[in-house]
Amino acid sequence: MATPQPIKKPSRPQPPDPSQKRPRPKSEAAPAAPNPVPDTGDKPYGLVPLPAKGIDRQRPAGQDQFRPKLMSGKLHLTLTAQTASFIASGVIAMGRDVQLPRVDLVKTAVHQENKLIIPGSSLKGVVRSAYEALTCSCLCKTKVRREKIPEGYSECKINAKQKKFDVCPACRVFGAMGWQGLVSFPDAIGQSIDIHVEFMQSLYGPAPKNPMYDNNGKVSGRKFYYHATQSVSSKKAPDGKDKKGLDAQKAKQGCIFKTALQFKNLTEAELGTIFVILGQDENHPMALKVGGGKPIGMGSLSVKVELLEKPAIPKNRYTRYILPESDFLVGAPLQAFMQTAIAQAQTNLIEPQQMQELAKILAWPTQNAAPEGMY
Ligand SMILES: [Zn+2]
Repeated sequence: MATPQPIKKPSRPQPPDPSQKRPRPKSEAAPAAPNPVPDTGDKPYGLVPLPAKGIDRQRPAGQDQFRPKLMSGKLHLTLTAQTASFIASGVIAMGRDVQLPRVDLVKTAVHQENKLIIPGSSLKGVVRSAYEALTCSCLCKTKVRREKIPEGYSECKINAKQKKFDVCPACRVFGAMGWQGLVSFPDAIGQSIDIHVEFMQSLYGPAPKNPMYDNNGKVSGRKFYYHATQSVSSKKAPDGKDKKGLDAQKAKQGCIFKTALQFKNLTEAELGTIFVILGQDENHPMALKVGGGKPIGMGSLSVKVELLEKPAIPKNRYTRYILPESDFLVGAPLQAFMQTAIAQAQTNLIEPQQMQELAKILAWPTQNAAPEGMY
């Protein structure tokens, strides 16, 4: 399988490694050298290199029936906005139409009865991107033009006529064309009714020299924005000039959202990978980055897993972690369950290099300051 070419970077010649001279046992394939980590300089984002192994395509578990050895249930989550967050509804309203008579125009957020909403589709997208980056998954939900995708990394396609059902780890869990996936994300509902209006500067498009394509014009990695301690909301640039932008309906720092992620027929490692992305791995503390204004420090959400609900399956009940009379896990038993699943994920599904790089970018808490000016 073809792997992306190394990125051209000035590098010192390395002394030969004596261990490489030892002949490998014939049964073992030579492990692919890790892909280089693209250098994004002072950009507000980093890139997680594509896995050198290529894509691991297999047949998904299927949703037609509950499989007793696989895991099904519901994960109750509390999300806390660690920086101001904005989920655009796509509508710009006149201030007086949204009870803000002193504001001319407002970028409105997704809300219901004055409560802000994070649409399930947004959350799913964010969790999926991280899942793709951590595992040997295809480059699919991407805006990148097809010719920029390195050979072998293109989107999984199911073709029932040709009996092609094998898809990558992310497509197995989150779905692909013609395959619904095993997890669903309902909308996360804001727990307070106040909507905060604050200035949001216009952001600038990708710079002409984009490190994303440093791999001989092909994608060199997956892009994730760094977290920042606080988002930028000032109307003046550091040079004293007025910034371009509009007022926007934001979720304030400290705003709380609740949702319950549903899953069906996941392996322990698959569920463990989701726990890692939700920031539950003690060795890789991370937060999610959701919605608009990511380059200026917005949209950092920390996650607390409150409760795991597992439906009673009378036959072959999976009782290793839970009390037989209980369908619910909270507190210490929930922690133990998550850490065991995470260990499975780290051993059997997550790529170590990709884990390290993603955890660096999405590390939470952070000391990073968001860039005030243009980037
Ligand atoms: Zn795929």
